[in-house]
Amino acid sequence: MIEKLKEIINDSDNIVFFGGAGVSTESGIKDFRSKDGLYNMKYKYPPEEILSHTFFMNNTEEFYKFYKDKMNSLNIKPNISHKYLKELEDNHKLKAIITQNIDGLHQKAGSKNVLELHGSIYNNKCMKCGKQYDADYIFNSDNIPLCKCGGIIKPEVVLYEEGLDDKVVNETIKYIENAEVLIVAGTSLTVYPASSFIRYFKGKCLIIINNDKTDYDYIADIVIHDKLGNIFKQI
Ligand code: ZN
Repeated sequence: MIEKLKEIINDSDNIVFFGGAGVSTESGIKDFRSKDGLYNMKYKYPPEEILSHTFFMNNTEEFYKFYKDKMNSLNIKPNISHKYLKELEDNHKLKAIITQNIDGLHQKAGSKNVLELHGSIYNNKCMKCGKQYDADYIFNSDNIPLCKCGGIIKPEVVLYEEGLDDKVVNETIKYIENAEVLIVAGTSLTVYPASSFIRYFKGKCLIIINNDKTDYDYIADIVIHDKLGNIFKQI
């Protein structure tokens, strides 16, 4: 399988990578959807509830306690997978990285063309005047981060109940539709609508690399159940 994968990557200059939480776990970021994720924790509410639009609006202080505690990846470093993908981009083989992660680790590794379906902790905006703030400002603020105008600052990450950004969605579909090779990794492909994008692929080779089985394994040309880092290490 590894040999085959190597060959496919070597032969293509039109690869698109679609990644989920599993890409970042080897950097030490926990997937809160996994069973050893954030569930066993000190918060009164499940993560899905805290990370929802309603919760943000109604319990902003509690939201930020959780957010600053669990989503702060400012000091976390890219791992071998991020670095490998950066190399592929440098070698003009990789056209785009599409990620469900909000940690900005692909950019930290140096990747340029990264589409962040769920936004990024690095973008934050005042809900009143629209002024932008960096992540340091958010994570270093006491309680609720406030704008100079007095408005509440909201991270530009897609919370539950919120829709994806149209522009990012359209770009994502365009890249997947035009890709020759699509590598889907570190995602169980259960989070709608992100998972449905795979259906737009009509290229030569669909590769799925994930620890556990996914609902799309049956349509893939190559399926590997392992950690992404283990695979990229061997290529
Ligand atoms: Zn403001």
